[in-house]
Amino acid sequence: MNRLQTEAVRVLLIEDTLGEADLIREMLRRASGASFLIEHARRLTEAWPHLESRRHDVVLLDLNLPDSDGLSGFEKLHKAAPWLPVIILTNVKNEEVAARAVRFGAQDYLIKREVDTNLLTRAIRYAIERQRAEEALRESEQRYALAVAGANDGLWDWDLRRGRIYFSPRWKSILGYGPEEIGDQTDEWFKRVHPDDVDGLKAVLSSRLAEGTEHFSYEHRVMTKSGQALWVLCRGLVVRDENGEGYRAAGSLTDISQRKRAEAQLIHDAMHDALTGLPNRSLCLDRLNVALRQVRRDEHKAFAVLFFDLDRFKTINDSLGHTVGDQLLVGISRRLEKYLRPGDTLARLGGDEFAILLNEIEGVSDATHVAERIHQLLEGEFIIEGHEVFTTASIGIAMGSDQYRRAEDVLRDADLAMYRAKRAGNLCYEVFDGNMHEDAVALLTLETDLRRAVERDEFVVHYQPIVSLVTERVLGFEALLRWKHPERGLLLPDEFIHAAEETGLIIPIGWRVLMEACHQTRVWQKLFPTDPPLAISINISGKLFQEINMSGKLLRILEDSGLAAESLRLEITESAIMDHRETALEELMTLRESGIQLHIDDFGTGYSSLTYLQRFAYDTLKIDRSFVGAMNSPGETGAIVKAIVALGKMLNMNVIAEGVETEEQLQWLRSIQCPEAQGFWFSEPMDELGVDTLLRGKQGKPL
Ligand code: C2E
Ligand code: MG
Ligand code: MG
Repeated sequence: MNRLQTEAVRVLLIEDTLGEADLIREMLRRASGASFLIEHARRLTEAWPHLESRRHDVVLLDLNLPDSDGLSGFEKLHKAAPWLPVIILTNVKNEEVAARAVRFGAQDYLIKREVDTNLLTRAIRYAIERQRAEEALRESEQRYALAVAGANDGLWDWDLRRGRIYFSPRWKSILGYGPEEIGDQTDEWFKRVHPDDVDGLKAVLSSRLAEGTEHFSYEHRVMTKSGQALWVLCRGLVVRDENGEGYRAAGSLTDISQRKRAEAQLIHDAMHDALTGLPNRSLCLDRLNVALRQVRRDEHKAFAVLFFDLDRFKTINDSLGHTVGDQLLVGISRRLEKYLRPGDTLARLGGDEFAILLNEIEGVSDATHVAERIHQLLEGEFIIEGHEVFTTASIGIAMGSDQYRRAEDVLRDADLAMYRAKRAGNLCYEVFDGNMHEDAVALLTLETDLRRAVERDEFVVHYQPIVSLVTERVLGFEALLRWKHPERGLLLPDEFIHAAEETGLIIPIGWRVLMEACHQTRVWQKLFPTDPPLAISINISGKLFQEINMSGKLLRILEDSGLAAESLRLEITESAIMDHRETALEELMTLRESGIQLHIDDFGTGYSSLTYLQRFAYDTLKIDRSFVGAMNSPGETGAIVKAIVALGKMLNMNVIAEGVETEEQLQWLRSIQCPEAQGFWFSEPMDELGVDTLLRGKQGKPL
């Protein structure tokens, strides 16, 4: 024992005979390998103050003291200091009493006459060790008792040899029984295990009893007295004899029904949308996977996925508030749920996106039929908080097939089809076909290429002359964007401008065109002075009006290039303005005040409201080339072109005819007094060198 070797052992010696006390002292002094600190009390009463310090490791107690005699002395001491190991010192005559003291808790007794150093030190050592072990055991027993009470577990103890089981009252009460209602037969247990779980439990028990780890645990259901299934956790421990044969198993039973309920709730929550209670994206994908597995096994098991989001949901949210938006989603869910068959899945994928999985259908026509019906159902009004709310949705349909590897891919294709339906102008539905995929991939490649093109500055500007039909002079140019694609060569805007708008890349590109065209025009103005100076028309995307301080930036560009505001014309389509009405209006006013002209591009193809024409104070109408081109076709007298020219005059606006390709068109435009024109008849758009050559050759002369 380390303590004996390192630290001094503190001994309280209670002995009235001084000679005896000295003898003990002497013996302990001689002990090798241990040192002892001895405090000496001659009476029991004298011992109390010593005990208070609680420093002692052991007490040597003489049985015959003046103030106590025999067993009562030990009992008083033991009661006062139960933690202290006590060794009784006695004479032969009192050995009987000493032995009884041991039964009552003393660690040992020594006969004074027989004792020597060895015997005494060994007795002290054992007494201390034993006391500690008992203490530890008591503590762990208490801890165990507390744990059992605290965990609220039932206990069972199975005597495998006799085939009897002890069930604690708590074990019985978990199952809803009183202490007397369950006996000690093994069957009492197994007949109450849920029929679906009993084989599993028996298998675990028998495998654990036979061999392997001693601990086991198993979750299963039991049937309570009232006939309900209850989830419990059975834990146990097998005790084996020297041959490794289990002869006893004991353990606990815990009611885990609450945990199971919470788990089930968690699983439900993880798979459902909190707002509508519908299956969410994960559950939808799960079910899709099941459907996919079924078609793989049996190709006749057709299924379809319908995908839709609500048109203008954001507007509803913004104008009527999120509560109304939320209730609309709930209302839609309830309405559609009623219509669908029990085997179908309606899921909310997030936001205003929904998907419907139609199982076991005959073919595409089933799916399109459902799509039409859903389209109708959605169009009916919803009354929410006194508001009449209307909504529509275009639906994308993807037919399930064994070609699909992943559920996500089916959803993606339905989504793509929906996008198509929307873009085609709110079609009721569109069914996915493989080409859509290729288109989508092509668009993605285009977008990536575009990004790279912006970084590498692969854009150039071409210029097309704008000519006066009165003087036939070149008045200026329209700047037209071109992309020098590294593989595909020079690309016209038709091929990429839409993607640039969608990605917002039109903003950096737009600024770049403005800078370049303004600088270039200023150079030409200096080289080829005319009166008024050559003007430049630049196409402006509506997206540019989203830029903060758009007009400020534009004026800076003019300043940097040295170009007068009067030389710059911004070409804006009607729709570009309509989309960004409020901010755009302010910016346009600022620009116009600075002297920049505003031209309506592609006039006649957009909203063409006279109110807007006046409100935005445009300077020029550009007649869309489709009208000019149509003048050649039989039956078309050019009435529209004529009307626009007249309108321009009336509103005191300039008019430019686009797309003049033939002599006849030119003559006719002259005859109706259209003041300006541009088109291939005069010149195709060209690079700076082309413009240089043109201007040099025609200096001052008509084109
Ligand atoms: P736009 O503003 O209406 O430009 C006139 C388009 O008509 C140009 O096409 C031009 O090449 C073409 N064109 C001119 N004369 C004739 C003709 O006699 N016959 C025919 N068939 N076409 C003629 P382009 O360059 O392909 O540009 C197409 C559109 O792309 C432009 O239409 C404009 O809306 C847009 N765009 C061009 N450059 C820019 C730009 O820098 N920024 C923005 N946002 N859009 C641009
Ligand atoms: Mg234009
Ligand atoms: Mg145009």
